[in-house]
Amino acid sequence: VSEFNNDVLSREDIVDKAQRDREELVEKLLEIYPRLAGRLPAELVADIIFDVCDWGIATDHLNPRQYAYCDFSSKRIFLNSKLSATARKLKVEEMCLRRTTLAHELGHIRLHPSEMENRDFRSYLGPGMGYDDSRSDQRENEAELYAAVFLAPKAMLEETEEVIVLRDAIGLNDCKEIESLNSRLSSINEELATRFKVTPNLMSRSLEAYELVIRRQGTRDSNAFRLQLATRKWRARHE
Ligand SMILES: [Zn+2]
Repeated sequence: VSEFNNDVLSREDIVDKAQRDREELVEKLLEIYPRLAGRLPAELVADIIFDVCDWGIATDHLNPRQYAYCDFSSKRIFLNSKLSATARKLKVEEMCLRRTTLAHELGHIRLHPSEMENRDFRSYLGPGMGYDDSRSDQRENEAELYAAVFLAPKAMLEETEEVIVLRDAIGLNDCKEIESLNSRLSSINEELATRFKVTPNLMSRSLEAYELVIRRQGTRDSNAFRLQLATRKWRARHE
């Protein structure tokens, strides 16, 4: 048992915390800049970090696979100065990758202060560069989950045509229909990612957080993932 375990939260706690945090932090931001009302969380995350949380955002020369890290001693998030090259390689818009990365770092700031404070912690490593320490891996998953819930509010997602279709299909027993939907899940996920201005990787985690899909990590490239509809049948087998 580590001395830092006081930050450990359950999955439900994190979903809950990210939801409440978003509401609270957006409200505080809108008190400062009322003209930002109606913007997506992704469009607000940098301003929230800067103006509400009082953290700075800077860049640093980092390994290409490391997107960013937060430095609790100077209260600054350092983004990889070559994030645009990473975005090109991943075939995602740089702005989406930047916002998604910032939300992940915000997750660390809000979830892991006592674990990470005063340590020059290299927090967001790209695919294949995870720490051996399992708590470090957990922290990364927690920050990812936080970002997924923060950037794609459940209520907003549920209003989209795509999610209405997914929700209806989850109750289906018609295998053919489910299969046909499964084959379209990745393009549905990309459409939603574009709409919420996040990376497809992050959007798949949002859909997973709200139990609409099952997400399977690719074996070789950890950015690769496969999605499957979270049907009742599947749940009955696995829960
Ligand atoms: Zn991280």
